[in-house]
Amino acid sequence: MSLKDILGKHNFKFKKRFGQNFITDPGILNKIVSSGEINSEDIVVEIGPGAGTLTKAIAQEAKLVIAIEIDKDLMPILADNLLDFNNIRVIEGDALKINLDQLVEEITGEQKPYKIVANLPYYITSPLVMHFLESEFNIQRIVIMVQKEVAQRFTGEPGTKDYGALTVSLNYYSKPKIAFFVSRNVFTPKPDVDSAVVDLEIRKEPPYQVNNINILRKLIKAAFNQRRKTLTNALKVLNIEKAIIAQILEDTKIDPKRRGETLTLEEFVKVANKLSAII
Ligand code: SAM
Repeated sequence: MSLKDILGKHNFKFKKRFGQNFITDPGILNKIVSSGEINSEDIVVEIGPGAGTLTKAIAQEAKLVIAIEIDKDLMPILADNLLDFNNIRVIEGDALKINLDQLVEEITGEQKPYKIVANLPYYITSPLVMHFLESEFNIQRIVIMVQKEVAQRFTGEPGTKDYGALTVSLNYYSKPKIAFFVSRNVFTPKPDVDSAVVDLEIRKEPPYQVNNINILRKLIKAAFNQRRKTLTNALKVLNIEKAIIAQILEDTKIDPKRRGETLTLEEFVKVANKLSAII
């Protein structure tokens, strides 16, 4: 049965508030699955299965798919559409409020690392990804469809307009890359933006030793809150004496006139580690 027929049979109405733009193109679905290099050993958590088209494509390759969907109206559609699969569990709930490690353990009885694959609603992409990463869940890889501009921000280079607090934080936890771009025409209903699939390989260890993660987070936030200011000026909000900032920048060999938005993750870590010794 086609997606249109399944949705029609259940009299389903798309909900904007849940960012519902479903994918129908089998070529795109398979490309998402191959970007995640999913194999028969993999446990995959899918966020927002919608009508289950991507879920099926994942289930054909994975050992188990745990699909979390917030919209209760999709439950009968998913039950209908996924009937032929015995390796899919659908959970009704808000992915932001679920402890994924606990859920996977409850279902599999194991604490194995798992992959996340999702075509996410655009408005929750960044908060959801950061929530998963900061919670330090046992995630191996995240392959997600996001708005094209968000994908560019995930992978921005220092000093460019795409480079922001999100880019730096993401690089601390993962190695982000754009897998491929997707036209808006492959979605039902058609969204106003183009998309890209992003592949985040989660780091087993942070790339640099960080003495205090909260100070690193505060520093990154301060640097990008005032991206047009020099680092020295941007750091004033942290209530640290100018002379101390100057000393730290000299010790870390960072030009005090540089803007915060030009610092690499490594440089942020160096400054944060110096700051953590005095704050
Ligand atoms: N995966 C389907 C596809 O590719 O066709 C649907 C993708 S659609 C862009 C996003 C899906 O995420 C919708 O089904 C929506 O109801 C669901 N969703 C939105 N917010 C959610 C949340 N916080 N937790 C779980 N699912 C959510």
